[in-house]
Amino acid sequence: MLAVLNEKTKGKKMKINTIAIHKGTLRDKTTGGVNTPVYTSSAYAYINREDTFYPRYFNTPNQDAVAKKIAALEHAETGLVFSSGMGAMSTAILAFAGTGDHVVMLDALYGGTHYFATQWFSHFGIDCTFTKTTAEDVINQVTSKTKVIVIESPTNPLLAVVDIEKIARFARQEKITTIIDNTFASPVNQTPLDLGIDIVVHSGTKYLGGHSDLCCGMVACSGEKLEKILSLARGLGPSLDPRSCYLLERSMKTLVLRVTAQTRTAMEVANFLESRPDIAAVYYPGLECFKGHEIAKRQMTGFGAMLSFEIKDKDPDRFIEELKIISPAVSLGGVESTICSPSLTSHAKMSSTERLRIGVTDSLLRLSIGLEDADDLKQDLDAALKKG
Ligand SMILES: *Cc1c(COP(=O)(O)O)cnc(C)c1O
Repeated sequence: MLAVLNEKTKGKKMKINTIAIHKGTLRDKTTGGVNTPVYTSSAYAYINREDTFYPRYFNTPNQDAVAKKIAALEHAETGLVFSSGMGAMSTAILAFAGTGDHVVMLDALYGGTHYFATQWFSHFGIDCTFTKTTAEDVINQVTSKTKVIVIESPTNPLLAVVDIEKIARFARQEKITTIIDNTFASPVNQTPLDLGIDIVVHSGTKYLGGHSDLCCGMVACSGEKLEKILSLARGLGPSLDPRSCYLLERSMKTLVLRVTAQTRTAMEVANFLESRPDIAAVYYPGLECFKGHEIAKRQMTGFGAMLSFEIKDKDPDRFIEELKIISPAVSLGGVESTICSPSLTSHAKMSSTERLRIGVTDSLLRLSIGLEDADDLKQDLDAALKKG
């Protein structure tokens, strides 16, 4: 190949920003270009039978570059890039759970994962139990048939924090595979493999892509776990095209800078909202009074850039309409701040009784903090609260 890994950095111990920029990225030997060239081919000469490149084999140079980057960022042996977060999540689950097996999942998991489990697990002969967001509850629901535990922390939209290490330690003893959706925290704020988790899954559509212009997913784990995931992925086929891989790689180089700044602003906005009498509640792991704060402090290096809040005595729809900078949108993790009403979007299919049971009220709003200046965001919220 004419583009190669920078051999000088091989095996070198690097800090997180250096990793984000250099790991996985290929150098173009012919021209000296510092970026991974975009290899658009879907047909490659066969080198040997095992190793011929093909996009759906998940092994082309552009796929490999981003896979190596996520692996390094998540302190994993290896990684894989998918065409969506759900492609990564469903493949990871099905690689380790099949007919007759039992899966334990948080009831607060991302809506798409919840949907996949409730609509499709029975088709594959998989039994599933949903639990509350505590390590004790997860452990209590495990049976002799449990093969996989799927968790998320912090959760959507209430930012509940679970004790990752406690679940991981128990699962290791019982030889149960653990999967965590690390989308909300990103590897900048949390590296779950260091806490004993087996497989990290990302919706790369969010922070890794970071600019609201990509749909992709990623997995990071040991080489042994990856073998099964890769084998199933080649059968199911949710692979990412080279041009999207290139965009993702470009974004991942600024991941740490972006998420660090977004996290800092989120803390500032959370403090601002908490100080207001017209706000009924703020959900953010960085607040000292927040229920999961102590666990978050132990297992996260930063508290993330997602927060939720409830407004008092005001129509949330009118409040959102009054915002000028923060735009209503369902996705998250972009450079622009977005806001959404979970009861109208991610949790719309749930009955209102069920929604209230898990704490999703009609006045709950979820905010994804972007890269705008904190003062402008606070001013935007302040003006809308005064009007709303
Ligand atoms: C968006 C999201 C997903 C699904 O990712 P897609 O890229 O939309 O398939 C999974 N988990 C979380 C936490 C998400 O926010």
